[in-house]
Amino acid sequence: MQVKNNRLYNSDGTQVEFRPTENLSAGKKDIRFIVLHYDGASNETSAVNWLTQKGSGVSCDLHIAKSGKVVQMAEFNRITWHVGASRWGDLTSLNRYAIGIEQQNIDARSEWTEVQIQKCIEVCKALVAAYPSITEILAHLEVATPFGRKDDPGPKFPMERVRKAVFGEYTVVKRITTTNLNVRVGPGTKHELIKEIPKETYVDELRRSGLWSNIQIGGLKGWVSSQYLK
Ligand SMILES: [Zn+2]
Repeated sequence: MQVKNNRLYNSDGTQVEFRPTENLSAGKKDIRFIVLHYDGASNETSAVNWLTQKGSGVSCDLHIAKSGKVVQMAEFNRITWHVGASRWGDLTSLNRYAIGIEQQNIDARSEWTEVQIQKCIEVCKALVAAYPSITEILAHLEVATPFGRKDDPGPKFPMERVRKAVFGEYTVVKRITTTNLNVRVGPGTKHELIKEIPKETYVDELRRSGLWSNIQIGGLKGWVSSQYLK
């Protein structure tokens, strides 16, 4: 797939179905992230109908159905309404920064189809190639505020597989250099504190976001200030 003039094209050169939504904010998006969702819909078309219906109060850039069918609803530099109240690092109101991908699935506990996951990877690769300013693929649940307001795309969605397929593998073992390092839900001191980890502990650094590192230790995952890792 390929992006030209903010529109998505299939590998055979045909344009992906474009069903424009009027649910947009004025101005242009400062594209930095992709945010992934499930649509809560039991069929392929109802979410796209709602996201393109005037007055629904919601919209999104793309929709991927269980069949792998992709529909684009806004040019990627337009500000769509898919994230709501949100925070990531120092940024809030992420609709201004994030390309949204709604994906057909009824809830966080339901299985995804392989064709759907592969299509998501293919679309994300095309977006990152077209917009090198995209540094992260995020789950709606990671950025929605207050934390816990959203649960999508949920634990069944292979987020790490998608990230690694798009950005490549990245895991480094690091040692904590400060007494009791705060582990938080997201990158930034305004994110909720999960746990404190003692000095000299070794953790896996999975990825970076600005001055913050996403780490894993045992079953725990969270964000710490990168300056205290060596
Ligand atoms: Zn969502």
